[in-house]
Amino acid sequence: MNNNDLKLEKYSFGVGDRFARQAKAQLRACMQAGAQGVEVIPVWNKSYREHTVVGSKPGSVRAAAEAAVRDLAWTKPFHVDADHIRLEIVDEFIESSDFYTLDVADAIGQRADSNDVEDFVNRHPELVGKLEIPGIDESFDTSRAEIESIGGKYLHAIQEAGRIYRHIASVKGTGSFITEVSMDETDSPQTPAELLVILAAIADENIPAQTIAPKFTGRFNKGVDYVGDVSQFEKEFNEDLAVIAHAVTTHELPKNLKLSVHSGSDKFSIYRPIRNARSATGAGIHVKTAGTNWLEELIGMAESGGEALLLVKEIYGKALDDIDALCAPYATVIDIDRSKLPRKDEVNAWSSEQFISALRHDQQKKEFNPNFRQLLHVGYKVAAKMGDRYLNMLEACEQAVTRNVVENLYDRHLKPLFIGNGSR
Ligand SMILES: [Zn+2]
Repeated sequence: MNNNDLKLEKYSFGVGDRFARQAKAQLRACMQAGAQGVEVIPVWNKSYREHTVVGSKPGSVRAAAEAAVRDLAWTKPFHVDADHIRLEIVDEFIESSDFYTLDVADAIGQRADSNDVEDFVNRHPELVGKLEIPGIDESFDTSRAEIESIGGKYLHAIQEAGRIYRHIASVKGTGSFITEVSMDETDSPQTPAELLVILAAIADENIPAQTIAPKFTGRFNKGVDYVGDVSQFEKEFNEDLAVIAHAVTTHELPKNLKLSVHSGSDKFSIYRPIRNARSATGAGIHVKTAGTNWLEELIGMAESGGEALLLVKEIYGKALDDIDALCAPYATVIDIDRSKLPRKDEVNAWSSEQFISALRHDQQKKEFNPNFRQLLHVGYKVAAKMGDRYLNMLEACEQAVTRNVVENLYDRHLKPLFIGNGSR
């Protein structure tokens, strides 16, 4: 990487929302962190999947971000992430993005050319044998056969990332954008040895990756807390940090390469281990958490009562009618127990408080219903279909919505991740 290449700052935070109405509120949350002395740079992201469901275009994300930055006179950097991009869809994101998350999960496991694997292992004798990585207690032994097998599993995927990277670089110009490589949407977490191989391969492909999103242990269901063994997560997270720190000293990789956590929003129980690891090592971090701003919109509207409360109840009713279709694109990242979903007539009789208590992500409250929350989380298509009816009501409830978006992002995310509040 050259000095004038676009660099991702140490702490960055993936934000964004389905309907591109909350950019200002999201920026306000970053400003609150700034007021506490922690610079967290917003990265607006919206995946191709979300654009497809909502019917929006990538340019709308940058437009909303720029308007917020202008209105609130934000002078620090901000970025616009083309999230989970593949070669077939990248062109739509060329103009509006300066951050590209190259998604190679689908290519993992497609066998690499055996000559390529052979060459790779020959090029990297340092990967074979007894490996000691500062920060990882036990040293581990790898055989040539193991490294060949790992190479066979991942090389093709990294070559694919190289193709996407070079395509973007050929139209935008080298150094003018930030590159992330993601492999989180796959079945099993990568071991330290796998991550070492992956990073060596990324260096070989000359991909100047500034962040990498591995798959972690446990379930990262959309919009609800982490399901899994937090201490195992903590171990893996720290090992990944150590492997990255080691790889940037041994390979041609950007020195600011950092871990990216695709949280699927609201993984509160792993925030403490992330914060501890971050402060113990001084490592940078990128955390994506965007999807639940839409739920804060619903909470703000429910709070407003009257017609707005009726509208959010209607959204739930329609989501329930259409549950199979709404859940299908998210099948691997939601766990809804349908027997625990409230019936339409029950919800229709709810007060604002009842609706909010069931939806808001407060696990202390016994009324909180993660099934209800997850269904609404994937139910944004219902609101998209309502079009102006939804957007006009959203505007009418702007004050309550903004308050909820800001409070949620700052109190439940930025604070525990970057500042600490003693209780988590
Ligand atoms: Zn992801």
